[in-house]
Amino acid sequence: MTASPIDPVKLDKLAEVAIKVGLQLQPGQDLVLTAPMAALPLVRRIVEHAYKAGAGIVQPIFADEEITLARYKYAANESFDRAPGWLYEGMAKAFSGNAARLAISGDNPMMLAGQDADKVSRANRATSMAYKPALEKITGFDINWNIVSYPNASWAKLVFPDDPEEVAVKKLADAIFAASRVDVEDPIGAWKAHNAKLKERWTWLNGNNFSALHYTGPGTDLTIGLADEHRWKGGASEAKNGITCNPNIPTEEVFTTPHARRVEGYVRSTKPLSHNGTLIENIEVRFEAGRIVSAKATKGEAVLNKVMDTDEGARRIGEVALVPHSSPISKSGVLFYNTLYDENAASHIALGQCYADCFVNGTKMSGDEIAARGGNKSLIHIDWMIGSDKIDIDGITQDGQTVPVMRKGEWA
Ligand code: ZN
Ligand code: ZN
Repeated sequence: MTASPIDPVKLDKLAEVAIKVGLQLQPGQDLVLTAPMAALPLVRRIVEHAYKAGAGIVQPIFADEEITLARYKYAANESFDRAPGWLYEGMAKAFSGNAARLAISGDNPMMLAGQDADKVSRANRATSMAYKPALEKITGFDINWNIVSYPNASWAKLVFPDDPEEVAVKKLADAIFAASRVDVEDPIGAWKAHNAKLKERWTWLNGNNFSALHYTGPGTDLTIGLADEHRWKGGASEAKNGITCNPNIPTEEVFTTPHARRVEGYVRSTKPLSHNGTLIENIEVRFEAGRIVSAKATKGEAVLNKVMDTDEGARRIGEVALVPHSSPISKSGVLFYNTLYDENAASHIALGQCYADCFVNGTKMSGDEIAARGGNKSLIHIDWMIGSDKIDIDGITQDGQTVPVMRKGEWA
C-alpha cells in the first residue's frame, strides 16, 4: 500500500462543506447517499460529518464500474429494458419522509463508451423511468440535496492521460478542491461570499425580467425566449422543506427556464459533451418554434439523435444558464468530461426537463401550469455548453429594448 495522492485535510474539508454548505443537514434528518465504490474514503468522511451534525440515519448506496461492466458483458439482452424500480421507489419514499440526498460523482465518464449503444440507451431509459418519482422530488426541490465529486483513478486518467495514475489523481483531486473552494483557510466563509455574488447577478436579471436572450458569435445566432414568470436562480437555494442548500458543488452559474416554444435560430457547442460514456463534439443545431429541427455533430451524432428521440421534450430546452468565461473552472483550462464541472466553465443550455423552481411560485404550480408558462417536460436533462470568450449576449426587454448582458463571455 502506498499513501493516497489525495490530500486528506482537503478531502475532509470537502466532506464538511458537503454537509454544512451543500446540504445544511439538519439534526434528526436522514440522508440517502449514492457513490462509486472507489469514493469510499470521501463517503466515510461525509458520514462522520453527517452524524456530528446530528443526522438521523445515513444510508450509503454504492455502485462500481467493474460491476456495471459485468452486466453489459454477461446479462441477458431483455434485462436492459428493466431497472431496479424497488430501489428508486425506496429512495422516493425516503425523500417523502424528508430524507436529504447526497450524490458523489466520479465514475469514468467513458465507462460505457465501448458498449452496445442500443443496450446503453435502453438501460438509461429504463433507469430514467424508474427513477422519475424520486428525481421529481429532487428537481422539484422537495428536499435539500447536494452533489460533490471524488477523483476516481479511472476518471483522472481520462482527464490527464499523459500522467502516471498517482499524478493524474493528485491533479484531479487538486482541481476538484480548488473548484469546490475547499483549498482556502475558511471554505464555509468562501461559500458565503460566493453565494452573495451569485445572488447579486440573479437579482439583477430578475429585476430586468427579460423576455428573451439573444446570443451571437461564431456559428451562433440564437434567440432564447424566457418562460412567462421565469425566475433566475444560482448558488444557495431554499427547498420546500425550508432548508437552504447548495445543490451543486462546485457551481458558478445563474440559470432560469427558457420558453420551450420560443427558441429560434442556430447554435454551435463550444465544448465537447460527455453523455453516458460517449463524447459528442461540435454540435450544431437549428431551432424552429423551440424545437430542434436539424442537428449535426462531428462525433457522437448517432447518440445525440438517439437522445433527442427519448420523448417530445427531448428536442426542446429546459434550462438556460450564464457563466462568465473567467470562472475558475474555465480558467483551469481542464476538460473534466463531467457536466458538474464543465457546465460551470461556460454558459449553457439543457435539452429536456425544466426546473419548476425557476418560476415565480413554481414549486406550488401543477405540471400543466408550468407547461402553459413555457416550461419543458422530458425524461432527460442534458447540459450543453454554448458559451465562450467569443459570444455576446443581449437581454431583450418586455418592450423590445436591448440591454447588454455579456460581452466576449464576461458580464457586461
Ligand atoms: Zn446548468
Ligand atoms: Zn442543467
